[in-house]
Amino acid sequence: MSKKVIIIGGGIVGLSSAYFLSKEGHDVTVIDKSDITSGASFVNAGYITPSHIIPLASPGMIAKGIKMMFNSASPFYMKPRWDTEFFKWSWYFHKSSTKEKVAKAIPIIKDINVLSRELFGAIKASGDLGDFQLERKGLLMLYKTQEAYLHEKDVANKASFLGLEVQELDQKQLAKLEPEVAIDAKGAIHYECDAHSTPTQFMPKIVAYLKSARVKIRTNEEVLDLEVKGNRILKIKTSKGNYTADEVILAAGSWSGKIAKKIRMDLPLQGGKGYSINVARPTGIAIPAILMESKMAVTPMDGFTRFAGTMEFSGNNDFVRKERVMAIASGAKNFYPTVDINANEIASVKTGLRPVSPDGLPYIGRSSKWANLTFATGHAMMGWSLGPATGKLISEIIDERKVSMNIDAFSPDRRF
Ligand SMILES: Cc1cc2nc3c(=O)[nH]c(=O)nc-3n(C[C@H](O)[C@H](O)[C@H](O)COP(=O)(O)OP(=O)(O)OC[C@H]3O[C@@H](n4cnc5c(N)ncnc54)[C@H](O)[C@@H]3O)c2cc1C
Repeated sequence: MSKKVIIIGGGIVGLSSAYFLSKEGHDVTVIDKSDITSGASFVNAGYITPSHIIPLASPGMIAKGIKMMFNSASPFYMKPRWDTEFFKWSWYFHKSSTKEKVAKAIPIIKDINVLSRELFGAIKASGDLGDFQLERKGLLMLYKTQEAYLHEKDVANKASFLGLEVQELDQKQLAKLEPEVAIDAKGAIHYECDAHSTPTQFMPKIVAYLKSARVKIRTNEEVLDLEVKGNRILKIKTSKGNYTADEVILAAGSWSGKIAKKIRMDLPLQGGKGYSINVARPTGIAIPAILMESKMAVTPMDGFTRFAGTMEFSGNNDFVRKERVMAIASGAKNFYPTVDINANEIASVKTGLRPVSPDGLPYIGRSSKWANLTFATGHAMMGWSLGPATGKLISEIIDERKVSMNIDAFSPDRRF
């Protein structure tokens, strides 16, 4: 049965949901307060990452955060501020950072990532979006120190155990794999299971496809309030008017918590700011890499190389901290000595906010509180990777079909 569905938020998660819902014949409208040309879904590193099996909330992260708290150039930065939501979120994050919880999350994160990688492939094979970059060259974890090597070796063992393809590379093997650029690293762990893409290419293509599939995309329109009656969302009130719908999907990224509050739902979420710089000159870099000691990502995209990084908890804003941008440029030079990011490239840095839940798992599913509201948010560092899987799961939930994987761990009603 065709339903009238309103999706709040036109990032990768909202648009992927629209893609799968429209395929099922639903009448879909996406409402976004921006013009859908910026933010996390545009500036990300484009990784599709079965390798990222360890959630951000893991043992030792809070200690690291506190240590780096007063250094605004550090890759993981929590700005000291008086904000009760942030205190609460930090407490939940701390409670989630146990060995047991991480062990439980690992196979679930792997499953949803593998599902999403397959769906990216299926979208490409369908031809719906025309051609777009989707390459399976894997992801190199480049390291300089024994400490970083041992840390990643442990993750790699866990990944191998789960059946993911992982290789260890020494300097010689690394040079053979990346012949066009000098790399100053002791070696790498190569997660061959990973893929990558160009978000700034994919996003306009999916918007164009959705429009051709009669999905209504309302840009520069902000959802201001939700009117409820009984246990249902009755009205979606925006800056331009009111809407009614059979089903509402909340996919508003880092702003989802604020919207949930309007209907008395506590959805702990913090925006984790990241930066990215594009270099359109040839760099010789052919394989995506994470520079472990610099804690940053490098991706050869369609027509440019992207350098991205930092996780900054300083509220939902797009303020650029220059020292952090400079840290990305010098972090890149540290591993690729021949690659210089110039002043113009640095000046054109872009930011985006990752919607970070306290346990690093997304919120996907219905809440027991509101019968016609489904959540699709909180994907933190994996939102790009998990967009298609989330969209597919959302369409299955709305159609009341069997879901492609167990989603209990993603419940928006879960406690931390
Ligand atoms: C530097 C950086 C690198 C990253 N690298 C990767 C990576 O390599 N791989 C990966 O998987 N992930 C990566 N991520 C994370 C990923 O980008 C995010 O998790 C993902 O983009 C989140 O998508 P989203 O659709 O949930 O949110 P968003 O993209 O933030 O979209 C939410 C949308 O909701 C809209 N909205 C908000 N409030 C309202 C309202 N009231 N009314 C109407 N509209 C509203 C916003 O305008 C926005 O367009 C990275 C992020 C950053 C910042």
